[in-house]
Amino acid sequence: MDDELEQPEGDAPLEDDERDLLHQDLVDVQSLKELLGPKGIKGVVFYCPDCDEDHYLAWDLLAGNLREMLDAGESPVHEPAFQPDPDEYVSWDYARGFLDGYESYEQEELGDAVNRVILELRDRGWSPEQVRSFLASAGLDVPPLDEGPVAGR
Ligand SMILES: [Zn+2]
Repeated sequence: MDDELEQPEGDAPLEDDERDLLHQDLVDVQSLKELLGPKGIKGVVFYCPDCDEDHYLAWDLLAGNLREMLDAGESPVHEPAFQPDPDEYVSWDYARGFLDGYESYEQEELGDAVNRVILELRDRGWSPEQVRSFLASAGLDVPPLDEGPVAGR
């Protein structure tokens, strides 16, 4: 008779993908602190089912907690913030959504701008080679330019 292995809860060492996620969260928290901190957002609010209340975690505290989880593999003790102003905290979902939007906005904006420049220069009769060297001289990533008719459509 084999007893099924039971997954211990809480004390299990972190799986690699859990560590990756935590590490990504840590990187995101640093970015969020830089982006949202100047806007007056001091951290993130989490609802904690254990305490049945919201926990307010300032960016540094949140980063510290994530590091602790990476090092020790367990959640740190619940640490209420000192008289937090709810207006200065956002939900983690909001924070992540902000970061996703910010990053894709940056990339799309740049890609759009480069594409508009390419189309405009082609309208003016520039050759693909002229466009390429112009973009390169401006320090922009040069997307693959088609010679002749647009390929792949
Ligand atoms: Zn709690």
